[in-house]
Amino acid sequence: MLRINKGIFRAYDIRGIVDEDFDEAWVRELGRACGAFFIRRGATRALLGHDCRASSPGYQQVMAQGLAATGLDVLCLGQVSTPVFYFAARHLGFDAGVMITASHNPSEYNGFKVWSGRSTIHGDDVLAIHDLMAAGDFPTGSGMVSVHDILPTYAEDLLSRVTLARPVRVVVDGGNGSSGDLTADILEAAGAEVVRLYCTPDGSFPNHHPDPVVEANMEDLKAAVVEFGADFGVGLDGDGDRIGAVDETGRLMYGDQLLAIYARDLLRELPGAGVVADVKCSHLLFRDVEAHGGTAEMCVTGHSIVKDRMIETGAAIGGEMSGHMFFFHGYHGFDDATFGALKLAGIVSRAERPLSAFLADWPTVFNTPEIRMDCPEAIKFEVVARAQAHFKARYDVIDMDGARVEFGDGWGLVRASNTQGALVLRFEAESADRLKEIRAIMEPPIRGWIAELGG
Ligand SMILES: [Zn+2]
Repeated sequence: MLRINKGIFRAYDIRGIVDEDFDEAWVRELGRACGAFFIRRGATRALLGHDCRASSPGYQQVMAQGLAATGLDVLCLGQVSTPVFYFAARHLGFDAGVMITASHNPSEYNGFKVWSGRSTIHGDDVLAIHDLMAAGDFPTGSGMVSVHDILPTYAEDLLSRVTLARPVRVVVDGGNGSSGDLTADILEAAGAEVVRLYCTPDGSFPNHHPDPVVEANMEDLKAAVVEFGADFGVGLDGDGDRIGAVDETGRLMYGDQLLAIYARDLLRELPGAGVVADVKCSHLLFRDVEAHGGTAEMCVTGHSIVKDRMIETGAAIGGEMSGHMFFFHGYHGFDDATFGALKLAGIVSRAERPLSAFLADWPTVFNTPEIRMDCPEAIKFEVVARAQAHFKARYDVIDMDGARVEFGDGWGLVRASNTQGALVLRFEAESADRLKEIRAIMEPPIRGWIAELGG
């Protein structure tokens, strides 16, 4: 009987520690459970891909065996980024598959993103796979396993969508994840001059953590952009679905600033287009979209939620502070840091001013990055409920996802992390003093509720 840690079946994926939460025998059984799930939904074949972690190729092999044992034919892509996997699923018409990756998590982790229909599953569907696995009652059959190299088709698709007006110079920091060389190769093929930093895939992530929105990880990229006189730099996360950008002065841009730049470019082409951004983004982004003739909409944080909201509202582009950028207009409607890098190269190549000057008309604001406050899983939603009630009695509060407290000259957000036993906070204000005041209004009571509820 296989031991199954239910805790690793999470909101958006199955993720745990290699040789502790799962091993190859376990992953083979997971393959059979996924096979059962897919067959119930009418699938006859499944797609597999994996990131650059040491355990990933072996997991692809046993997962393929598990899926084939339920009767599904299996197509293995080998080592690819998550967006390349999404691209292959769309391009080859798969409505079932598994991408083996733990995104930006440390090297001891691995995980599984399950594709069904036209997107990755979340919530109850992830738990359904757990239940199927625990029940152990799988269909039997003997599917065929084959391999396919999708990269040439992917590269051709991207290159047909963006033309550079001049050969911009770009530093690419791959963080030794799955999409460094891929992104650098495509930028070069488009005519950019590329400086490669940590582009070789290495699942031990020897240089820095592959999370490009954490400033500490981007110090080498910032220095290299300045040293090589580059037009900009891009940082990629471990599985290539999140992007961070550094302007030519070596300053790291936040996800909301980057989204504003993509949105302005889009709105020139498609006036009135819808732009969806998560609740962590600056009010300056929403204001900027409206000022450039777009329709801005705020939504709950979480990449599947942003994607779903975009489909519902017919939005053309969307994004998150976390660096997930979803390109619907002019692309396939998923988050892709490689396409994001190429798109940014196109925008910068046509501009008369450097990237640092794009948002020069934004007022100076003082803000914090995302702040993580430890808060046990069991009480995090209760703490958020208390925050909503407390602040609603005193201020304007947007409560779609935690409490975003609007102070007129600034705002503060507290929400429960989707992925960790933590709260996520962010603050912004028009002066440094006001920022301090807003934090002093919000943080002490939140700490108090955590202590009171037993954190
Ligand atoms: Zn990722």
